[in-house]
Amino acid sequence: MTSRPENVVVVGAGLAGLRSAETLRARGYDGRLTLIGEETHLPYERPALSKELLAGKRSPAQLVLRQPEFFREQQIELALGRRVESVSPQRHTALLSDGRELAWDALVIATGARARRLRGLETPPGVHYLRTLSDALALRDELAPGKRLAVVGAGFIGAEVASTAVSLGLDVSVVEPLATPLERVLGTEIGMLLAERYRAHGVDLRLGIGMTDFARDKSGRLRALRLSDGSEISCDVAVVGVGAEPAGELLGGREIETDASGRTAHEGIYACGDVASAWRPSLDRRLRMEHWTSAAGQAAAVARTILGEESVHDDVPFFWSDQFGLRLQYVGFASEWASIEIDGGGDNFSVRYFGEDERLLAALVANRPREIAALRRELAFSSPVSSRELELQTV
Ligand SMILES: Cc1cc2nc3c(=O)[nH]c(=O)nc-3n(C[C@H](O)[C@H](O)[C@H](O)COP(=O)(O)OP(=O)(O)OC[C@H]3O[C@@H](n4cnc5c(N)ncnc54)[C@H](O)[C@@H]3O)c2cc1C
Repeated sequence: MTSRPENVVVVGAGLAGLRSAETLRARGYDGRLTLIGEETHLPYERPALSKELLAGKRSPAQLVLRQPEFFREQQIELALGRRVESVSPQRHTALLSDGRELAWDALVIATGARARRLRGLETPPGVHYLRTLSDALALRDELAPGKRLAVVGAGFIGAEVASTAVSLGLDVSVVEPLATPLERVLGTEIGMLLAERYRAHGVDLRLGIGMTDFARDKSGRLRALRLSDGSEISCDVAVVGVGAEPAGELLGGREIETDASGRTAHEGIYACGDVASAWRPSLDRRLRMEHWTSAAGQAAAVARTILGEESVHDDVPFFWSDQFGLRLQYVGFASEWASIEIDGGGDNFSVRYFGEDERLLAALVANRPREIAALRRELAFSSPVSSRELELQTV
């Protein structure tokens, strides 16, 4: 986009959509600005769904990121409970589920991701997925003390739900086909440390085993999970946490590829947040993250880029997770590593992941929040591309 736009449409009223809209206004954009969200709720803190909201420690109202007055004051036209069904990159239009067609001269796609469904399995009543506030409220209604919860998948969502359910007094089982929880992200050694935490909190953790089907009672409601070794886990409620899928269908695919400023291959169309697979100059690769801070950072960079300020999002990746008495914080990125170094153990440890060249790639800390800032600086410094060499890559 060469000239400053006068009509920006943002699709998706999650963190990335909200942050891009508010950054546009904060940077002086005074044209028309429309934020369209499929969910009926005001933009809210999604990470709290598996934690404080499920635990009953925070109400839906306490998760709201911006109140209605904010949108009025900022002159952001908020259209909730409406889906963008399709966009035309050629005609610069977006078709809404209420039949309206909106014109735009810049379009931000911030449609996030959806919970991955188990293919080929019908889910009986009692089985839940967790992505939205509505999902979390429906699940919360079923989590009564003494009930039996079975969780499919020991990833971040599965672990957090299991941990919250234990704190609520449920009897919790978790089934995971890999050898340890979070094995692909954190490795086997750390996965084993986490498995110990599950078991210390009374979770029946079944590793290296898959779920094949749901067993139903006479009324058709969930009765048990059927496992690949022929055994069953009897349960009243189940949560399936088998990952998320990017919601990139508006551009015809799943994830949407962007450059480091959030530009897609289509003139005037940008993408940010969980849906975007963005070029990361310092990692020398494209990466799609499903983390709160990257969604916020990418969205701010997109807004600035729309306004003609060349802005690149290349912060050191960061995420956190709360599970079984551990506040886990992870900085950097390591899809594979040559060695790790562990300091401490139990509920207080840190882990460093090193590459072949002994360069620090990533680090994880458990209940050591003070170490994170220093690790982030160290990682920024150890990046293979120094900031002076950064060049914008195109899609
Ligand atoms: C239960 C849970 C716990 C999490 N905990 C953590 C955590 O501890 N730490 C962390 O770093 N990250 C966590 N995350 C991830 C974090 O919440 C996401 O990275 C972040 O929400 C991404 O923001 P986003 O705006 O890109 O996408 P989303 O939050 O998914 O928002 C996208 C919005 O777009 C809407 N939408 C989709 N398609 C359309 C359409 N066609 N038209 C209109 N609207 C549409 C969706 O309904 C949704 O409301 C968690 C996620 C979940 C689900």
